[in-house]
Amino acid sequence: MQKGEANTLLQDFIEKCQAHNLKVTPQRMAIYRELFDSTAHPTVDAMFQIVKKEFPNISYDTVSRTLLTFAEIGIVDLVEVYGGAKRFDPNVADHHHLHCVSCGKILDFHNDEYNNLKIPDHVRRGFTVLTSRVVLKGICDKCSSPGNVSP
Ligand SMILES: [Zn+2]
Ligand SMILES: [Zn+2]
Repeated sequence: MQKGEANTLLQDFIEKCQAHNLKVTPQRMAIYRELFDSTAHPTVDAMFQIVKKEFPNISYDTVSRTLLTFAEIGIVDLVEVYGGAKRFDPNVADHHHLHCVSCGKILDFHNDEYNNLKIPDHVRRGFTVLTSRVVLKGICDKCSSPGNVSP
């Protein structure tokens, strides 16, 4: 990440926190920064392992609660994972996901056509669609390369 970019990001974060009366603490800032640096849509557990390096005394609970609060006020997104651990997405703009069913990796991708998905009439009749995201499930490059043993 470029330095200027990081500054705008934190500025943005601080403003959003203030708008929701959420105190900006060094821990919260670190959690947000690390989540943004990660492209893996990490779980609470993965985030805890990362943030712990910087704040050895931080508890799993704090990381978990912080991420859920971020999701609640719309700073981050919750990725829909059915049955699995919750995963978090720092990217709240329109985008779509590639989900590797072998290693569990979730990658972002962008597509204008998908952003403007046509909602079928029978869906629209009984349901107000607020956002839509296309999830393509499959096998990533790494997992499909021959000789590769998936974890
Ligand atoms: Zn994979
Ligand atoms: Zn994403």
